[in-house]
Amino acid sequence: MNTKLKQIHLMIKPIGPQCNLNCEYCYYLEKKDLFPDGENFIMPNSVLSACITKYLSGMSTTNVEFIWQGGEPTLLGLDFYKQVIELQMPFAKQKVITNSIQTNGTLLDDKWCEFLVQNNFLVGLSLDGPKAVHDRYRKDHNGQPTFDRVMRGLKLLQKYGVEYNVMATVARETAHSPNEIYRFFKEQGVQFLQFTPVVERTADSHTEQLGLKLAGPLSLCEEEGNTTVTQWSVEPEVYGNFLITIFDQWVRNDVGSTYVMNFDWALNSWIGNPSPVCQFSQTCGQTIMLEHNGDTYACDHNMYPEYKKGNIADIDHTEIIENMINKGFHIKDTNLPDSCLKCKVLKACWCGCPKHRFIKNQDGKPALNYLCKGYKRYFLYIRKYLHAMSQLLENGLPASHIMLAFKGPIAINVSKNNNGV
Ligand code: SF4
Ligand code: SF4
Ligand code: SF4
Repeated sequence: MNTKLKQIHLMIKPIGPQCNLNCEYCYYLEKKDLFPDGENFIMPNSVLSACITKYLSGMSTTNVEFIWQGGEPTLLGLDFYKQVIELQMPFAKQKVITNSIQTNGTLLDDKWCEFLVQNNFLVGLSLDGPKAVHDRYRKDHNGQPTFDRVMRGLKLLQKYGVEYNVMATVARETAHSPNEIYRFFKEQGVQFLQFTPVVERTADSHTEQLGLKLAGPLSLCEEEGNTTVTQWSVEPEVYGNFLITIFDQWVRNDVGSTYVMNFDWALNSWIGNPSPVCQFSQTCGQTIMLEHNGDTYACDHNMYPEYKKGNIADIDHTEIIENMINKGFHIKDTNLPDSCLKCKVLKACWCGCPKHRFIKNQDGKPALNYLCKGYKRYFLYIRKYLHAMSQLLENGLPASHIMLAFKGPIAINVSKNNNGV
């Protein structure tokens, strides 16, 4: 069948789980052990060509997005991405093709930045905050800090006017520094940023057999229900407080000038649009993750043999997508615990990422999200503000007018000590 399908993102790992860094909380580097010894992890030309042509010819939408990710995708060098542009070129008249690249930024130089800006790449830069925060978990293979190298990359992106956003992870210890982190990003002139919580369980018997140190989703090893998280996983309530602390500053000072994606996603859900991110959507499965060898999965958090859906060399993309939809490839199911179904913020949260749903009830009901306490506190806290912002938008006013409510009495109902409930 060759039905053309919409709204699917392609996330490509052209260098697999290879990286020049060795961040303590990285969930992907250990996936090397799932490949044969001696694997070089470089995407062959045949796979690259198949992925670009099949994806572009299989999508019915005008806008088609490629997301290049790793490991560290810049390890492949510029020539690889020049080839990408050449392969995309024959489709450029019918399609609006965009490329994003998610990088730790340490290998960027002038030539890279010239290429990125000329070809309109959007760069997602992994930077966790100021030096002490960033270097707490992000080290290289010699245990050396990486902040200075990442900052050099950030300055180059800014110098060349490359479009970028900062992707900051929030881990156990760094979650205690929201003010410091947010202030730092603003001082550095970062306008677009997002925060991602680090949550990983230690290996269960299933992933241990695969030689891994971390667990997969609960569904892979249902009987164990192991809830032990790694020592770098963020604590739920601390994560909720982290977001609230930054939101408090943002809503008073920075709406319309600093774009914190987490708040945009929440506002989006509040006004009734589908969430643009998988973890807060009702279902997920709108991404195809392609490993360097052409193997295809729903998501890189679920890159385990059980979830492999085929290889790009053998299967048409649309076939893979139909498999996803028809055979439960959409790993985020709608079987939620009662506490979620009754929750006041269900439509903003949807029980988060299924990989984080491992807090089991005694009665055998579906598992609750590990971050629930943090999510609930955060979403309840911000909802009165979101309500006010959506009212502004409905009345044709910019959401940034909410900041006026903190400067004097205006007709927006936002109390200072609001707890949102
Ligand atoms: S930079 Fe990214 S891919 Fe590399 S080790 Fe760190 S988290 Fe993993
Ligand atoms: S499993 Fe989690 S990270 Fe993967 S697509 Fe679903 S919500 Fe997103
Ligand atoms: S906040 Fe908690 S109870 Fe509410 S939807 Fe999210 S995970 Fe479920």
